[in-house]
Amino acid sequence: MIRLDPKNLQIIKTQSESSYPLECCGIMLGYRIKAEKNVLEVIPTENVWGSESSDNFGVNDSNYGKTRRYAISPKAMLQAEKKAREIKLEIIGIYHSHPDYPATPSEFDREFAWQEYSYIIVSTLYGKADCINSWCLDDNRQFIQETILVTEV
Ligand SMILES: [Zn+2]
Repeated sequence: MIRLDPKNLQIIKTQSESSYPLECCGIMLGYRIKAEKNVLEVIPTENVWGSESSDNFGVNDSNYGKTRRYAISPKAMLQAEKKAREIKLEIIGIYHSHPDYPATPSEFDREFAWQEYSYIIVSTLYGKADCINSWCLDDNRQFIQETILVTEV
């Protein structure tokens, strides 16, 4: 279960719409109590897919542009980690959008997912934020869907 307040959900939706038809991405900070995650802050980041800062993915995937891929720069991740430490939170997960595509993870999403993180995916249909799902990996590295609770955190 991942808990998100309406204001942060709106930030994700707005970013997904303004980035359309490209994928947007960002980092969620918060805290967890066992399997329950609470998001207190979202940090929109630039989609650097295809630039030098995504080279560390080590994949030759030039057929896909930012309409189908996203990457967060290592620098942005480090800054988020630093900020999280300062305000005594941790990185809870990553969100990104799927322009004109369902809110289900791709094989690429799965391959590069971190075990501890939640992955929120927002589907943007014709430029409008539509379905929003959250996913996390199980012990076999398969994504399972988790409930999103939209409420004051
Ligand atoms: Zn994806």
